[in-house]
Amino acid sequence: MGSESLTVRGLRQAKPEYFAQVQIYLSQLGLQACLLTALNKDSAGLYHELVGIAPVLGQRLVDRGIDIANITDSGALPARTANPGHCRGCAWAAPCRPEIITGDPG
Ligand code: SF4
Repeated sequence: MGSESLTVRGLRQAKPEYFAQVQIYLSQLGLQACLLTALNKDSAGLYHELVGIAPVLGQRLVDRGIDIANITDSGALPARTANPGHCRGCAWAAPCRPEIITGDPG
């Protein structure tokens, strides 16, 4: 985690994906807030932030996870993202979107 960005901008702005992860935990554990601690691996500096719950976001993400689990339990696959830019670096791009790997649009 880029700690300078984190210390300047805070978790929500600097690392929205981690903020979302925290919101899922808070939502499912019934907590109103938690203390986030991040370690700067270069300087060994610690950053602490009290992160409050954003209940609508947390529940929306939990609901999305349940939807995905239900789809896969039914034997189907969730719809692929409409934005192939999201697929760069994805470990499943070769079988899912071979055109990303080969550059051949098919
Ligand atoms: S390549 Fe990866 S990110 Fe893209 S749709 Fe497939 S699974 Fe999702």
